[in-house]
Amino acid sequence: MRLCETDKFIATCKSIGITVTYQRLIIFEFLQTQVNHPSAEDIYKQIRKIHPTISLATIYNTLVTFAEHNLINRVTQLHDVARYDTNLKMHHHLVCRQCKKIIDSHYPALDRIKISRRHTHGFKVMRHQVQFDGVCSECQKKARIKSNE
Ligand SMILES: [Zn+2]
Ligand SMILES: [Zn+2]
Repeated sequence: MRLCETDKFIATCKSIGITVTYQRLIIFEFLQTQVNHPSAEDIYKQIRKIHPTISLATIYNTLVTFAEHNLINRVTQLHDVARYDTNLKMHHHLVCRQCKKIIDSHYPALDRIKISRRHTHGFKVMRHQVQFDGVCSECQKKARIKSNE
């Protein structure tokens, strides 16, 4: 499921004991429109246009809180900056080495991967997500244009 709607969000916050502030609501609503796994900075730059008083620190803290309560997912530290994912459905990631874009991929065969106990070293697996490393189509195009110059 994508992040639930505002009403559901408010209900969830109440049930897990986090206060619904105006700023949290703004950030939540903004996140619903995002599919690019934005960083805190990305979110800040966009939200600031509409809500100039919001601070980067508020955004950082809110994202950490949301992630702690599984309202969003923090994408594994792929680059140097934490990126956030509002897509809570099982999916996998295609990560561009050049532009750092993270593209969602829904591929049921990957969802079904099971690791045998022999290979988990006593680790209790809660979730898995496959990451493909490579170059996105746009960056490939740019590289082709460059090599033709
Ligand atoms: Zn790219
Ligand atoms: Zn994702």
